[in-house]
Amino acid sequence: MAREVASSVGRGEEDPYSNALAQLASVAQVIEIDPVYYEMLKTPRREITVYLHMKMSDGSVRSFVGYRIQHNNARGPYKGGLRYHPIVSLSEMRAMAMLMTWKTALIDVPYGGAKGGITVDPSELDEDELEELTRKYVNAIYYNIGPEVDIPAPDVGTNPQVMAWIMNEYSKMKGYNVPAVVTGKPVELGGSLGRREATGRGVAIVAREALRAIKGRDIKGARVAVQGFGNVGSNTVRFLMEMGAKVVAISDVGGGRYFPDGVPVAFDKLYADFLAAGTVGKLPYGTPITNAELLESEVDVLIPAAIENQITGGNAGRIRADIVVEGANGPTTPMADRILERNGVAVIPDILANSGGVLVSYFEWVQNLEREQWTLEEVNSKLEAKMVRAFNEVHGMARERGISHRLAALALAVDRVVKAMKLAGWHRPWASAHARAIRRRTSRSGPAGGSRRSPARPSSSTSTPGRSPPGAPGSSGGSWSCSGNSSPSGPPSWG
Ligand code: NAD
Repeated sequence: MAREVASSVGRGEEDPYSNALAQLASVAQVIEIDPVYYEMLKTPRREITVYLHMKMSDGSVRSFVGYRIQHNNARGPYKGGLRYHPIVSLSEMRAMAMLMTWKTALIDVPYGGAKGGITVDPSELDEDELEELTRKYVNAIYYNIGPEVDIPAPDVGTNPQVMAWIMNEYSKMKGYNVPAVVTGKPVELGGSLGRREATGRGVAIVAREALRAIKGRDIKGARVAVQGFGNVGSNTVRFLMEMGAKVVAISDVGGGRYFPDGVPVAFDKLYADFLAAGTVGKLPYGTPITNAELLESEVDVLIPAAIENQITGGNAGRIRADIVVEGANGPTTPMADRILERNGVAVIPDILANSGGVLVSYFEWVQNLEREQWTLEEVNSKLEAKMVRAFNEVHGMARERGISHRLAALALAVDRVVKAMKLAGWHRPWASAHARAIRRRTSRSGPAGGSRRSPARPSSSTSTPGRSPPGAPGSSGGSWSCSGNSSPSGPPSWG
């Protein structure tokens, strides 16, 4: 059966934004979403595209494209990472911004969702060029970020140093120090203790809870495979090893290693050897395996913690783990999700599993605003409590309703966002007439059929970076800047 599904994989299976929209549509199976709010959630509120022209160290001139996509701010300022990667695209940014809205709602911090990126391979740039590019990006999006507006953080290809440059450039333009404009900063500049390893710590906590709740098993002695050995992957391995798990396979872009009895050395030695070798694929111990083999290895828990679209319709049928815990954002396509569910593999979704990072980012922001510094123990105990609580909420709903953990997590998150939008009156003033029109249409044709046409929006206003002041939550002016989205049709039911 899995093979049949796999053979029908369409070209669109790996389009991140289509997948994010499919996930949003799936929520209508569980909760009723007012069509007006559903329509608002399908697209970001603001999209910023900037072109950054740079004189390189060798005297040549290059242009880079950068994005900042702000999906929703009903629950608080926009929040999301900044990615430097050659395959950064508008579709990817839109999808990630939407995921961030769900993630901040699910872990219950007062933020919305955003994402940014520059299409660049940072390894091709020297340090001065990287700093210059980052400062140009901040100049271009200056009016659309800020501690109460939109707060970037590190993601793939960026790090605390990049956050420090952002903070400095923004502060220079403001005329005073503004540490709360970014999170994931170096501790010396107001970063939080525990932020760097927070995502991996959270992933390990969720893996431990999932194994106990779903399989009745202890993490101690459990066999785990982790794909990706960057910030998230390496810290996940570290905390899993601390918990006594048997990490039997690890990998990065340069290859992988298999250890039948678990990593044979302490984590600090493993990490030092990894740094010396430059890639997991050149570690001096373990049996070489490919990334594909790692994903299909026989383990209790599989943790994809590298990049998106690693488990697809093509390989989902061969996944032999009991539980997949998504350390990366979007590592499983919707088609793979269906295959895994059919095969009894539980998937703990990204918006829950890797939310430890944004959670400690929130702690950092609070510390910055209050000019305080919490102890590492304080940060870690708050992280543990919030992650366990979020897991229990999702698992409880999944069990009660007989649905997947992904659907439960999405339903909880979307419901929270819609409630905030409703309470704040986002449907007014322009949307109410359209809402009535849609409801009339829907009630005439019944929930399953009828027109799925979108309510009209105000004419598309292209966000001009650095020109317009940020709009208040729900304000209609200048917020819909997405033109030409190829959105799939509405949810299965308007509810
Ligand atoms: P990173 O750049 O530090 O590490 C990425 C890792 O993935 C590296 O080990 C790299 O070698 C590996 N990789 C890249 N391409 C690969 C491929 N084709 N096959 C196998 N491995 C490959 O990034 P990160 O911060 O660890 O982020 C990893 C994932 O976690 C991303 O999806 C990111 O969006 C997500 N995430 C990160 C954080 C955070 O706090 N850093 C928070 C939430 C989610």
